Amino acid sequence: MSIAENIAQVRQLIAAAARRAGRNPDEITLMAVSKTFPAESIREAYAAGLRVFGENRVQEFAGKAAALRDLTDVEWHLIGHLQTNKAAKAAELFDAVDSLDSVRMAEKLNASAATAGKMLSVLIEINVGGETAKSGVAPDSDELEQILTGAPRWGKLKISGLMTVPPYAEDPEGSRSFFRRLRQIRDRIAARSLPQIRMAALSMGMSHDFEVAIEEGATCVRVGTAIFGERAKA
Ligand SMILES: *Cc1c(COP(=O)(O)O)cnc(C)c1O
Repeated sequence: MSIAENIAQVRQLIAAAARRAGRNPDEITLMAVSKTFPAESIREAYAAGLRVFGENRVQEFAGKAAALRDLTDVEWHLIGHLQTNKAAKAAELFDAVDSLDSVRMAEKLNASAATAGKMLSVLIEINVGGETAKSGVAPDSDELEQILTGAPRWGKLKISGLMTVPPYAEDPEGSRSFFRRLRQIRDRIAARSLPQIRMAALSMGMSHDFEVAIEEGATCVRVGTAIFGERAKA
């Protein structure tokens, strides 16, 4: 199937999941995760109407960004772990960083965004499964608390929600409790009405479990394989 056909199918599944949950499909953003795929694939998805793209490596995206400069109405999101030495480049290339997981990175990104003369949208990545190999801050950690209370210091960051990658489960139902947990964490933070924190977005759900994520309240699903096909193994 073509990229356009894949997108049409994913959109139908999103709409059906939203209806099951009594939600409006228009409140769910379909992010195309284009990592490992070339600029031409991004253009195909763009032609099919997608405007939000996710990449997980700064260096890889730098090459593609040059070839895609004419697409001005697109939002580019960094969704992979960011190293502090890449913060400046990330702030230049991306509109949003969905994988903030430390105070140190917030400081770096804020300074880099100021230098780049722009605002950066940011999601805090939460390690809901507590897996040691995964990035993200722990749900009840000091680090999370310091990010939340530090927000007024970072005038160039717009912290607007949470992101997670749950432990992989073959059965998408295995992700449900983690998605529910993320929503509860978001609701608890939102109820505190912290200064400079707008706790609305929930970025959760990938190709195999985005329907469950929508049932649990996702506002953005990050879909790679179901749009572009299988990635070559690194
Ligand atoms: C690769 C990736 C995705 C997309 O995964 P698929 O299973 O291909 O849909 C989503 N989120 C993150 C953080 C990723 O790294």
